[in-house]
Amino acid sequence: MTTRRKLVAANWKMNGSLDTNAAWLAELRAGRWTCDVAVCAPFVYLAQVRDGLAGVAADLGAQNLSVEKPGAFTGEVAGEMLIDIGCRWVIVGHSERRGLYGETNEIVAAKAVCAFAVGLRPIVCVGETLAEREAGRTLEVVGAQLDAVLKRCTVAQLAQAALAYEPVWAIGTGRTATPAQAQEVHAAIRAQLAHADAAAAASTRILYGGSVKPANAAELFAQADIDGGLIGGAALVAKDFLAICSAAG
Ligand code: PEP
Repeated sequence: MTTRRKLVAANWKMNGSLDTNAAWLAELRAGRWTCDVAVCAPFVYLAQVRDGLAGVAADLGAQNLSVEKPGAFTGEVAGEMLIDIGCRWVIVGHSERRGLYGETNEIVAAKAVCAFAVGLRPIVCVGETLAEREAGRTLEVVGAQLDAVLKRCTVAQLAQAALAYEPVWAIGTGRTATPAQAQEVHAAIRAQLAHADAAAAASTRILYGGSVKPANAAELFAQADIDGGLIGGAALVAKDFLAICSAAG
């Protein structure tokens, strides 16, 4: 049986300041955890967070990357630059990027390709809207999002990275998928991966994201196919983030 080490990733989104980040990092450094941890910070704070994580068992991550190589692309940030600054992880295809910035399944797949090409580990996000869930289309929508990535990346590559199932209706809403609802989708994602490569699928981490908090994390992480979490709001409070890391074992 494959054991997958749990991964808990903080997605700070467009939050933070030099002062609040310093306090958060000091609290994190005083904590203890045994799972893998990543902190995905805004671009401008990556150097600060990298330095704050020095000597700590936690990796640096970004929240987005360009599909372009370095060059004349004003305002963009290339994967090469993220590696240069010390990132190991990058979130790709978050529903806010899909919904607010028009990232299609194909763009998300292209970003995953760019991440792998420079040695970054993408956390590839998939998830359905409330309307799609209510129409009974959850597995179809998530399946199509994953399929676009599988057309460009191998499961063996994804096994070195992570997927995140994040139902859009649960992100930042306080409304969490029940453990059973989440497990159903996670199992479907793993089955889709296994169709291409059963061994790699068994070792691919599939995170859950959507209003995870200290009070519900353990129950979610106890599900057979939930291998950790991508944490938004609760990751802004170091104490809560640490509690979620503890729930991951
Ligand atoms: C997220 O944005 O990835 C997320 C899961 O947010 P929240 O935890 O706030 O729902």
